[in-house]
Amino acid sequence: MNGAKDIGGSDATGGKAAPWRAVVLTIFPDMFPGCLGQSLVGKALADGVWSLDAIDIRDYARDRHRSVDDVPFGGGPGMVMKPDVVDAALEAALAKAPAGAPALYLSPRGARFDQARARALAASPGVTLLCGRFEGVDQRVLDKRGIGELSIGDFVLSGGEPAAACVLDACVRLLPGVLGASDSLGEESFEDGLLEYPHYTRPASWDGRDVPAVLTSGHHANIKAWRRAQAEKITAERRPDLWAKRAAPTRH
Ligand code: SAH
Repeated sequence: MNGAKDIGGSDATGGKAAPWRAVVLTIFPDMFPGCLGQSLVGKALADGVWSLDAIDIRDYARDRHRSVDDVPFGGGPGMVMKPDVVDAALEAALAKAPAGAPALYLSPRGARFDQARARALAASPGVTLLCGRFEGVDQRVLDKRGIGELSIGDFVLSGGEPAAACVLDACVRLLPGVLGASDSLGEESFEDGLLEYPHYTRPASWDGRDVPAVLTSGHHANIKAWRRAQAEKITAERRPDLWAKRAAPTRH
């Protein structure tokens, strides 16, 4: 039977708002939910805050070997995912996806995924993610469907599934109610163009190292100023690219 592995969440809304819907196309559906089934993101899946359908691309293969790939025109190493098979799987995926949810192909050539893109995706009704394997997908199916490409960084994975897991994790933790302390989002790395300040917990003295005195002073304004200064120092030192972007609008 053609169809998706319904991993959960979609029936559990019980009158609440419609879940944020993720549809993943993969030849390894058993990789899902995987790490997305654990911890905060897994609990949100079980609670119906979001839903996850993993569509097995191989279900849409047409030959008796259930092939999803073929040799590249023009020669060269590796195999390419067949356009007809991927297109049929996409047809089924798009029928499941809510209107307005973007469909994206995970690819090292794609636009770089970052916190701003995570926020934009989390604000949409969901996302459809196509995971490549082998050398990738036949270009014609991407052109036909007008599918955008998304990269999680300048390195090459063996497949799109770990990239899809990263994207979905980053989006789901932004959905309302997923994180316990809702205000913890505002101070995180990237939320205001800065990396985060360092954290400390008890004991106040450990292994000959004391926590910075300001943090035990109880003086909230000083603590805030210290954290801000640390965040700025760390960002300037480690990520001159982020620091330059931040500093730019205030320059005259
Ligand atoms: N031949 C391709 C790499 C293929 S890697 C190239 O040189 O660009 C196989 C699959 O892994 C890709 O189709 C893609 O879906 C996924 N992938 C690999 N690296 C990725 C990255 N940095 N971001 C997102 N997806 C990636």
